[in-house]
Amino acid sequence: MICLGIESTAHTLGIGIINDKGEILSNKKHTLETETGGIHPIKAAQAHELFYDSLIRSALKESKLTMKDIDLISFSQGPGLGQCLRRGAVIARSLSLLYDIPIIGVNHCVAHVEIGKKLCNLKNPVTLYTSGANTQIIAQSNGKYRIFGETMDIGVGNFLDNIGRYMNLGFPGGPKIEKLAEKGSKYIELPYTIKGMDFNFSGIQNKVRQLLEKNSKEDICYSVQENVFAILVEATERAVAHLNSEEVLLTGGVAANKRLAKMIEDMCKQRGIKYGICPRSVSGDNGVMIAWQGIIEYNSGKRQKIIETEIDGSWRTDDVNIIWNN
Ligand code: AMP
Ligand code: MG
Repeated sequence: MICLGIESTAHTLGIGIINDKGEILSNKKHTLETETGGIHPIKAAQAHELFYDSLIRSALKESKLTMKDIDLISFSQGPGLGQCLRRGAVIARSLSLLYDIPIIGVNHCVAHVEIGKKLCNLKNPVTLYTSGANTQIIAQSNGKYRIFGETMDIGVGNFLDNIGRYMNLGFPGGPKIEKLAEKGSKYIELPYTIKGMDFNFSGIQNKVRQLLEKNSKEDICYSVQENVFAILVEATERAVAHLNSEEVLLTGGVAANKRLAKMIEDMCKQRGIKYGICPRSVSGDNGVMIAWQGIIEYNSGKRQKIIETEIDGSWRTDDVNIIWNN
């Protein structure tokens, strides 16, 4: 079975093609970027409209397939920005109707976890999912992915992007902050905002804004990473200890950050447990994870009519019933 997956929850339009063995046949994406300032949802949705045709064509070409070879279409049904989700859903429905291929809408966050498990060869990890809009600590219990801790305000990626915007670094700020942090060395005290298993970033964001006048960008970026990643890894370790877990998965766009990956690695090595860092090509938003999620749900018997493919911008990770074997 071969599935074409469409990701469109935010700034990235992804088209992925994967087979039921988990072999990635193509992973095409277009991400809206800016020199300065952030991204407007309508602009992102318009970019999706401009790029879907060429991305689908190049994904098919790369995998040496035509639409006739595609057995399943899947798409991100939520959570995400309404404007962006709607574009992906319309493309998926059109392809499904035109080529008479079954359609499945999947949860974007759950798809991040499942592709990470597959590619990192993990069975039942505690997942630290760090992306632009979402930051959650997720583990499976009683048929659902439960959220053990999460951000109370913005996702860690968006937090980094906001700080990048204060520094005029353009979007996305995360990778640029990582580069600047490598040159910083002085730790500047920042609020350590963790309560129980949950955390928040807007207080740190305000503090950074004040600090910008009197400190170097490099030292601020270094301090931000040390502080915020320690919060995330501390909460993850608490979930691991509570669940007696043997595995940790790091995924989401921010998983590309080497310092965060190193902190996860250190924590897991100290505890003598296995860990996986999701490969960069599928850790940020991408169509492959959506395609893989489509396959495992379809193979577990899930079927959807077009009328059941309405998007849900606030679909929670812990609202998804895990019907598939894992
Ligand atoms: P996603 O929403 O999963 O596609 O992730 C996008 C987010 O990942 C954006 O907020 C980026 O700033 C962030 N990001 C990407 N690469 C890095 C990096 N090397 N370090 C920190 N954040 C990053
Ligand atoms: Mg994501």
